[in-house]
Amino acid sequence: MPHAAAPEDSAAIHCSRCQACCCQLTVLVMADDDVPESLIAIDAHGMEVMRRLDDGWCVALDRDSLRCTIHAHRPQACREFAMGGSDCRAERASWRRIAASLA
Ligand code: SF4
Ligand code: SF4
Repeated sequence: MPHAAAPEDSAAIHCSRCQACCCQLTVLVMADDDVPESLIAIDAHGMEVMRRLDDGWCVALDRDSLRCTIHAHRPQACREFAMGGSDCRAERASWRRIAASLA
């Protein structure tokens, strides 16, 4: 039986050392958010979401620095995505699996 991967050490997790894995996820834009209209798309359910490029990355991500270009105005959903939280860890694990499969 395969062993489950050990959880990442919390000290190893930091956005500044991450491939911004979470910035490929669908991000809902809520009415109270202050996101520029040009960065918003309407999804198949009629919901406002962060616009993404053809390769899946959020249009607000600076691809060179992997930093959010609207950090001060990023949606609430991004603010609540806790670094080191369970969703963050899941995205990082998924990213590592994809990278390993391409190696
Ligand atoms: S929140 Fe987690 S997945 Fe997102 S950039 Fe930071 S470390 Fe990476
Ligand atoms: S708005 Fe910023 S933090 Fe949120 S997904 Fe886009 S680039 Fe990432």
